[in-house]
Amino acid sequence: MHYVSTRGSAPTLDFEGVTLAGLASDGGLYLPAQWPRFSEADIREMRGLAYPDLAARIMAPFVAGSLTDDELLAMTHKVYGDFGHAAVTPLVQLDQQHWLLELFHGPTLAFKDVALQLLGRLFETFLERRGERLTIVGATSGDTGSAAIQAVAGLERVEIFMLHPKGRVSDVQRRQMTTVRAPNVHNLAIDGSFDDAQAHVKRMFNDRDVTQTLNLGAVNSINWARLMAQVVYYFASALQLGAPDRTVAYSVPTGNFGDVFAGYVAAKMGLPIERLIVATNINDILHRALSTGDYSAGGVTATITPSMDIQVSSNFERLLFDAGGRDGGAMAAQMHGFESSKAMQLTNSQTQGAAALFSSTRADQTDTARALQWCWRAAGQVIDPHTAVGLHGAQAAASTLRTDVPIVTLATAHPAKFPDAVERAIGMRPGLPARVGDLFGREESFVELAGDYATTRDHVLEHAAATSAA
Ligand SMILES: *Cc1c(COP(=O)(O)O)cnc(C)c1O
Repeated sequence: MHYVSTRGSAPTLDFEGVTLAGLASDGGLYLPAQWPRFSEADIREMRGLAYPDLAARIMAPFVAGSLTDDELLAMTHKVYGDFGHAAVTPLVQLDQQHWLLELFHGPTLAFKDVALQLLGRLFETFLERRGERLTIVGATSGDTGSAAIQAVAGLERVEIFMLHPKGRVSDVQRRQMTTVRAPNVHNLAIDGSFDDAQAHVKRMFNDRDVTQTLNLGAVNSINWARLMAQVVYYFASALQLGAPDRTVAYSVPTGNFGDVFAGYVAAKMGLPIERLIVATNINDILHRALSTGDYSAGGVTATITPSMDIQVSSNFERLLFDAGGRDGGAMAAQMHGFESSKAMQLTNSQTQGAAALFSSTRADQTDTARALQWCWRAAGQVIDPHTAVGLHGAQAAASTLRTDVPIVTLATAHPAKFPDAVERAIGMRPGLPARVGDLFGREESFVELAGDYATTRDHVLEHAAATSAA
């Protein structure tokens, strides 16, 4: 499989290349040159496959040329065999029409594990092949950092420096990062905000003093391999609900548009998806873009769903490129316009292409609390606030769908990751699952650094094992 950039001028790469590159050199994002397609008969044959076997079946066309079927299968068994539930991503029924797809049975209790656990293995395999090492530098306000650390802890050829704003991530989230004891994991608590930490990371990628000595890598959701891994659970859940003989709708709590774009990919591959509901909190740039065509960034307001508090959604570019006819030159011009003015209007073909599959909703704090309460009282399930934003979207869209179409809400985090917001809504504090139960008994390890850029850069350069591409 070959991959092309949404902005048309970066070199075409194979799967190994896009996995290690992350962002394309022209500033765009990589997508497969064409969508692999499964027939109805192919999909019917997938019924009953165990998750790791299904994962290998779905991902095989994307990795072709870079991994053999046996290598891929060994990887999916290793990665998904370690999840906390035998079904990996189990479905839970809420009522006649509504279902939850639980994506939080990985080591850090959020859906990001499903993709990042695989990404860690892919890095190690490809780096070994090339005889290279990789230094991952990232900034986190919570979920991504812990999932990335868990994914690479103990790997031989990968080292990770994760910056978090000191005192501004929750205790659970901090401990999920700082209690991981492995020689290749470095936690840095920076004096300042998440935006300051993020700015340091961006600057390091453009700092020749750093890039000449270290082979830098990123783990954010612009990495194609992450989206690919997320396509699998759309197939797994739709198959259980009767696909390909029945269509299914999904409501997806959305931030960077990664998770819901994976649903779009599943549809492109032939999975009969009735609708993808893009569920946002009050940081609703995507809801505005999909409902009015106006994609303009405002400020970010902090909410009880911090993983969806975004200003711009990087993966949205992938949809605009694909739905708008795959014109890289036009996409580059449109995105450069957006980058300078922080606003753009979608073209007609982009709007129509998106409207064929997507709708969108927005939940404020009251909507979120109500969905959480409904789920607890009517269905006996405790959900996290991000999932509640998704469930609100599912309920809002229900009247516009035929009643025989199941609506699956993606449960993106375990409620115990956000105990305060859950307790405020339903008066009960969710406990951590047994497999992470001693989180508060484990010793933490992190370095505190002053807020300026030079301090962080010098610390990374001093503590990184020499990893130049040589
Ligand atoms: C990251 C995250 C999201 C948003 O996912 P995107 O792929 O960025 O749209 C939603 N919920 C939780 C709990 C997350 O960690």
